Amino acid sequence: MLVVLQPGAGEPVANDVATRLRMFGLAVHRTDHQGQVRLGALGDGSSVDWDAVRKWSGVQSVTRIAAPFKLVSRTFRPSDTIISVGRCAIGSEQLALMAGPCSVEGEEQAFTIAKAVAKAGATVMRGGAYKPRTSPYSFQGLGEEGLKILRRAADANGLAVVSEVMDSQQVTLVARYADILQVGARNMQNYSLLREVGHAQKPVLLKRGLASTIEEWLLSAEHIVSQGNAQVILCERGIRTFETYTRNTLDLNAVPVLKEISHLPVIADPSHGIGISRHVPAMALASVAAGADGIMLEMHPNPREALSDGAQSLTPGQLQALMPRLRAVAAAIGRSA
Ligand code: PEP
Ligand code: MN
Repeated sequence: MLVVLQPGAGEPVANDVATRLRMFGLAVHRTDHQGQVRLGALGDGSSVDWDAVRKWSGVQSVTRIAAPFKLVSRTFRPSDTIISVGRCAIGSEQLALMAGPCSVEGEEQAFTIAKAVAKAGATVMRGGAYKPRTSPYSFQGLGEEGLKILRRAADANGLAVVSEVMDSQQVTLVARYADILQVGARNMQNYSLLREVGHAQKPVLLKRGLASTIEEWLLSAEHIVSQGNAQVILCERGIRTFETYTRNTLDLNAVPVLKEISHLPVIADPSHGIGISRHVPAMALASVAAGADGIMLEMHPNPREALSDGAQSLTPGQLQALMPRLRAVAAAIGRSA
């Protein structure tokens, strides 16, 4: 249920209402919107006399949140969630630009890329140190050593870091080095991992599962937020369809739909979405036009020799060439990049 307090109801009233709701065994989450306190009271409320709650002092309204996902819905929080990471405010009118290699491969590669990422004007460097690979014989990532290299390369260039965490037991370790914890497509429904990142003090970038509906995706985000971590960024990275010419089908329909029903920031990953480097720029521009709050791109100094995802990686020169075009599309829809 959504319990909205009267405008100007003070902190003692807000605390009192929250405490009384908790005494029914409900979990209570709070958000503030235009000077009003909104409380999401979640759990089995069947024994609660909601008409009585409506009459409590300080309560303005009590309504049901109809969507199956509650805390991530616009009904609970009408205003956009903005997540500050380094120099970037993800979900604001300024686009969040993230770029970097699929995998961190070594010191020289990471430093070369970090320099190019900063030069292009992006503010977040991506790079996997723990890699979910389809084949057990493919490069699996450098692990903690990769995280250390990534951190050093990003710091030397004033960038924030996003890196994937594959396992609930890795969360503390990855959080030591990364500013944003990425939960990959294959792990979107790994509920013990979602629970664990829900306890972390770092923003989470939640990629859409390969065959997940928008509702399943938002329910996964709800798992994280319900554990207390409200800093979730949704990342559309393409879904599995019958099409075989492209690696995945970047579902840009999801962008305006999500922006309407959820307050969470939404970014797009056209690299995994289409999987063909020469077509990545077109889909990056399309993502911005569709209203994405940011873009995540894979980039490699020598894509042909990349240890993973070379076929979809831009060169530093291609990233640089894309930037003015991205800015032009952003400006056309009243945003900046
Ligand atoms: C990645 O970002 O390199 C990655 C493995 O992404 P996804 O989970 O979307 O496949
Ligand atoms: Mn990749």
